[in-house]
Amino acid sequence: MSDIEPNQYEAFLSDRRERILARASEAVERSGRSLDDITMLAVSKTVGPDEVYAAWKAGYRSFAENRPQELKRKLAGVEDHPDMAGVRFDMIGNLQTNKINQVVGKVTLVHSVSSTHLAEAIAKRALAHGVDCDVLLECNVSGEESKSGFAPDEVRAALPKLMGLGGISIKGLMTMAPAHDEDAARRTFSGLRDLADVLRGDSGLALDTLSMGMSDDFPIALEEGATVIRLGRIVFDPGYEPAW
Ligand SMILES: *Cc1c(COP(=O)(O)O)cnc(C)c1O
Repeated sequence: MSDIEPNQYEAFLSDRRERILARASEAVERSGRSLDDITMLAVSKTVGPDEVYAAWKAGYRSFAENRPQELKRKLAGVEDHPDMAGVRFDMIGNLQTNKINQVVGKVTLVHSVSSTHLAEAIAKRALAHGVDCDVLLECNVSGEESKSGFAPDEVRAALPKLMGLGGISIKGLMTMAPAHDEDAARRTFSGLRDLADVLRGDSGLALDTLSMGMSDDFPIALEEGATVIRLGRIVFDPGYEPAW
């Protein structure tokens, strides 16, 4: 982004945001909902605090990071801007248990609870801090080896135990779809929605948050019921051109 003037970058962010919103509203209408039902997260992991502030000025209110160290850096950046009061940050990346202290109490939602072990560790830290941490269970619906998260039968078996943990509240599910394959992406997203239905029936939890969809595939995710989309390159990278 160094080759682009700051005011040009802000204009880019605003124009791109309009394009994203137009495409997103088309997609949510197809699932009988409105944009008000959707949380759009700007994934700021590849940019610095200045770009986050520029995005704030362009209208983004919610951000996501995948590493605790970057989260810390971005939260420090927010301190420089009193007008950013109320900004939201979520954690969407793999979390090591020794880094949980840097996250609990600082983010609105942890999307990446991918094992019972991690859920227990977060619950323990949250209780020690006297906070309740809202979490999503990351599920590997596509079955790709490279993806982390609970397998569908695993999460079903683990849920009673996870529900019993004080310190965390399970708000829903998160997944990542295979890249460059629209049909597989759609199957993954509808699979997560179906899995949430099953878990809802088992548990009585509301599980009304479905975090799915990124730059390449968010319109499909919205059609399949996403309530949170996580957009990185399409928000921040002028060189990224969406395929849709
Ligand atoms: C980086 C990242 C995103 C955003 O990806 P883009 O393809 O750049 O939109 C979304 N979710 C997770 C978990 C990520 O790590």
